[in-house]
Amino acid sequence: MNNDTDVVCKLCEELSVDMAQSVVNSWFTDLEVESFANDRLVLHSPADFKRDVISSKYVPALSRAAKHIFGRDIDVSIAQVGGVKSRQPVRRGPEQRRYSFDEFVVGESNKYAYSAASAVAKSPGKAYNPLFLYGGSGLGKTHLLHAIKDSVRRNNPGLVVLAVTAEAFTGELATAIQTKTTKDFKERYRTPDLLLIDDIQFIARSEFSQEEIFHTFNAMYDAQNQIVITSDRPPRELQAIENRLRTRFEWGLITDISPPDFETRIAIIQSKSQRLGLILPREVIELAAESITTNVRQIEGMVNKLKAERDLMGKSIDVEMAGKAIADLMRENPGFNPTPMYILEEVCKFYNLEPSQITGKSRKGDIVRVRQIAMYLIRTMTSMSLENIGHRIFLRDHTTVLHAVKKVEEHKEHNPAFNNDIKAIIENIKGN
Ligand code: ADP
Ligand code: MG
Repeated sequence: MNNDTDVVCKLCEELSVDMAQSVVNSWFTDLEVESFANDRLVLHSPADFKRDVISSKYVPALSRAAKHIFGRDIDVSIAQVGGVKSRQPVRRGPEQRRYSFDEFVVGESNKYAYSAASAVAKSPGKAYNPLFLYGGSGLGKTHLLHAIKDSVRRNNPGLVVLAVTAEAFTGELATAIQTKTTKDFKERYRTPDLLLIDDIQFIARSEFSQEEIFHTFNAMYDAQNQIVITSDRPPRELQAIENRLRTRFEWGLITDISPPDFETRIAIIQSKSQRLGLILPREVIELAAESITTNVRQIEGMVNKLKAERDLMGKSIDVEMAGKAIADLMRENPGFNPTPMYILEEVCKFYNLEPSQITGKSRKGDIVRVRQIAMYLIRTMTSMSLENIGHRIFLRDHTTVLHAVKKVEEHKEHNPAFNNDIKAIIENIKGN
């Protein structure tokens, strides 16, 4: 990355992974870098009205994007006044994306998903319809979704292709209802040759969206237009989604992506480092592949971090330096190796409670349940002993912690919705 335009380009590219391209185009492509030093990035938006909106709404998303790009925390802010040197607005095309089939490293854990996605990209509407891809966070679902989209756009310029996250779909639908433009909305979503919906689990939050997706699905399916859906879990576990919709998701091909095995992690690290022009000794690659096991996004973060360290220190990377960099990364990203207090905070955030309520004396049913969840997660996600969890955090006996662990395990088994909550909290803790 050698100039400011590149920084903005990269940010937009990163943002467009999770946001509708229309949102990225309207809010972020004309951003300018006012300054970037000591991990503080100050951005400026030339339009007055955008500045406030970006400041109040999008700084966290920009920070996440910057962190992903630079592999470390970047303090992002929006300059309130003044402007910077004017420059040409940046144009970005799909060809600049890094989410292509070529860049996808195939291994045991993702080969079925990969071949299904390539088959769909080759003959949309004919291979598998719908294609339903699911798997944990950071395993390449969005990557494959964009790879399908870009490949179809490139090879079949005549086809209408539309990609959206379920969240953006819900948001756009709400706006369409408010502005009485649902007719246009329906037209837009029910007619493309290829419709890709990322993270479908999020439509569970809105009945309107479910209804709308149902009709969209039917229209698309009947016309033999291709539908691709990604989700963090299989259709049968999408508890909050209506039955009729869930069964439709099962009409085509369902395929999962699991965390990469050691060999695949090695291949991913090699591929990512080569792209960055990094030469890593074998021992460093192995160390990295052993340290970060469940999430490709984190593997990328680590490779970026190694590059940043190399550039800062101007020397090649050896095991000692890599070991330190990985340890730093784990410290900076609590989710790599969460502390008990961090887990407690995440549990509280999920249930909208204060840690003091959980560690306090209350015996109210709701609080007791959440306390048990916190105990369970601390026990299963850290190496802290039952005694220490009890005494140091909850001022309770170790038998209480043991009881909590059993209760939560039982409850998870019998109650899928509860099980999903636990999974969601774990994802939050891991920082996904
Ligand atoms: P998900 O949507 O499943 O949460 P993403 O598709 O956003 O995950 O992937 C996270 C990051 O990891 C992306 O930058 C993506 O390019 C990268 N990635 C995931 N799987 C692979 C893979 N098999 N090969 C190369 N890069 C991958
Ligand atoms: Mg994704």
